[in-house]
Amino acid sequence: MKKNFSNVFSFTKEFYEKFDEKIPLHEPVFLGNEKKYVNDAIESTFVSSVGKYVDLFEKKISEYNNIKKSVSVVNGTSALQVCLRLCGVRSGDEVLTQSLTFIATANAISYLNAKPVFIDVDIDTLGLSPDALKNFLNEFGEKREGGTFNKLTGKRIAACMPMHTFGFIVRIDEIINICDKWNIPVVEDSAEALGSKYKGKSSGSFGKMSAFSFNGNKVLTTGGGGMIVTNNEQLGKQAKHITTTAKIPHKWEYEHDKIGYNFRMPNINAAIGCAQLENLDNIIHNKSITYFKYKALFDKIGVELVKPPKDNDWNYWLSCIKLSDRKDRDLFLKLSHDEGILNRPIWKLLFRLKMYSNCQRDSQKNSIFLEDRIVNITSSAKF
Ligand SMILES: *Cc1c(COP(=O)(O)O)cnc(C)c1O
Repeated sequence: MKKNFSNVFSFTKEFYEKFDEKIPLHEPVFLGNEKKYVNDAIESTFVSSVGKYVDLFEKKISEYNNIKKSVSVVNGTSALQVCLRLCGVRSGDEVLTQSLTFIATANAISYLNAKPVFIDVDIDTLGLSPDALKNFLNEFGEKREGGTFNKLTGKRIAACMPMHTFGFIVRIDEIINICDKWNIPVVEDSAEALGSKYKGKSSGSFGKMSAFSFNGNKVLTTGGGGMIVTNNEQLGKQAKHITTTAKIPHKWEYEHDKIGYNFRMPNINAAIGCAQLENLDNIIHNKSITYFKYKALFDKIGVELVKPPKDNDWNYWLSCIKLSDRKDRDLFLKLSHDEGILNRPIWKLLFRLKMYSNCQRDSQKNSIFLEDRIVNITSSAKF
């Protein structure tokens, strides 16, 4: 490789003030009331699944995103699973999604005994391509009694789940238009996109249902946690019910009307979330400044720092560069790790993993192109 990354590496070390320690890809920051609220939750004895912070956190997430209903759960994966189930995904169904994603997207589908079908992504959004989706449905879709079916497999296509990679929002309006024509509900995997907006509207507010993750590496953390969001009041109520053991409210009787889940977010985690949300815009602003510092350095050496796609107000969660080929990618990763800077490649495409190798997929041309070239660079907020 002809590129000289030494200025980028020395900037990273000075910026994060870490010279002998390893620099992680993304660390959480706790700037405000986290300890105070956690302490308050402990003092109240409501540390588990009931408590004021759970209700408050749900309310605040709804307000922040301008979405009607929010239901907090133990993690983003369980949030996705519940969204898919409530949108009608059943055993034996198929769900259209991307193979360029974190494994949780496909696992949530598998937990319902449904199967992912992998559609290619766009180069600029790194997420599900409306053109590829349209082509797939024109070739394999067949509208019949009971929904849209896959002519090749005979299975019902029960949902479409695009994922907003690194907080970049896909062409969600086009995807929803296509899916509406085929009567396929859209679930957004917004796990990485809290705080991102598309044409002025929040991530998670477009699909029939959506899920956020608050894992420790995301832009906002509750330790571990997730949120189901929807503008459909009825689905919101069902989500709350099914994630809280499907218990019928009663002062003392144990009455449950279906096999529900114990997916409730503990109050202690919600307390952290409430404090984090107070600083979210501050954190996003801080990360945006770092992005532009990286941009100047990468511009100088002729390396592309990937820019947010059109119509996006990005949450700056994880920045990434696009190298010229797989060889350059591997060399950059080696040099980074030699310096103790834990930059990481984008995910291995899911159809390369044994469990998902027999899933139907299209050409995957753009996904393969990006898999060979995209590397995330250390992007923690720094105050
Ligand atoms: C983090 C993540 C999830 C899962 O969230 P968890 O809270 O870790 O279960 C799902 N999808 C994507 C794309 C993610 O990045």
